[in-house]
Amino acid sequence: MAEGKIIKALSGFYYVLSEGKVFQCRGRGVFRKQKITPLVGDHVEFQATSETEGYIMDIRERKNWLVRPPIANVEQAILVFSAVEPDFSTRLLDRFLVLVESKHIRPIIVVNKMDLVDDQTKPTMEQYIRDYRQIGYDVIETSTITKLGVEQLLSYLEGHISVFAGQSGVGKSSLLNALRPDLQLKTNDISTHLGRGKHTTRHVELLEIGGGLVADTPGFSALELDDIELEELPLYFPELRERSEECKFRGCLHIAEPKCAVREAVESGKIPSYRYENYISFVEEIKERKPRY
Ligand code: GDP
Ligand code: ZN
Repeated sequence: MAEGKIIKALSGFYYVLSEGKVFQCRGRGVFRKQKITPLVGDHVEFQATSETEGYIMDIRERKNWLVRPPIANVEQAILVFSAVEPDFSTRLLDRFLVLVESKHIRPIIVVNKMDLVDDQTKPTMEQYIRDYRQIGYDVIETSTITKLGVEQLLSYLEGHISVFAGQSGVGKSSLLNALRPDLQLKTNDISTHLGRGKHTTRHVELLEIGGGLVADTPGFSALELDDIELEELPLYFPELRERSEECKFRGCLHIAEPKCAVREAVESGKIPSYRYENYISFVEEIKERKPRY
């Protein structure tokens, strides 16, 4: 029995990458009976029936999975933002960070279009980058024009399954092209999919880039906090999480509780006020969510 990773699923076939070779596989009949659908990203055991074909016999337990696009075992999310055009938004970044952290995926923040940063926006941008690094996040400054940060980003991909995420127009396709020039993905595409039509929404493929596998479709297309409970929200803000032990009350949500170490840190400037404001806005959003029955 051989092992490999599903890198593409199409028309009932699963393409399994194993030691540099791709096997076109069918799933075992029992999967359908048990309503198990192999996913792109699944680590599988398969029986080769020829040099290029085989049957998937077993699927290893998934570390996590995304629904849209459907991918299993995503280890890293490359959160692409642009410094300008569109403007950098900490609210959107923090939303992505919460979603990514809740799936136990490692976030890597990319600030693209650094070549467009002028003297006026530079200090603000630099402060944001310092703040996020201070929290503990990896932040890579890039430009697909000057190739700033491209090598650095490439080194992060090695050995992992990654998805790119970020709003339209920030430069995701341009970055993938810079990382692997033979891809020639269409840029400036109005569809949210990287270099492909809007009609193949269920199709996703992992591309080999920089010794890793990268989804060709952006992850986290749904940005609702629907699956996140109020009590877990502070866990996804590392600088809140690490201070909550010093709060007077266990399970402090850092809203209006007395002797709250988080609010003290905000007041003394140790936690940036915009991070706290974003946290509070997510608290409100979760509180206003309609109960599900
Ligand atoms: P996507 O929607 O995130 O895939 O973004 P695209 O890769 O399609 O890029 C959107 C637009 O931004 C295109 O016109 C790109 O040429 C431009 N762009 C991408 N990266 C950069 C960059 O680093 N600097 C500048 N100045 N423009 C960029
Ligand atoms: Zn507190």
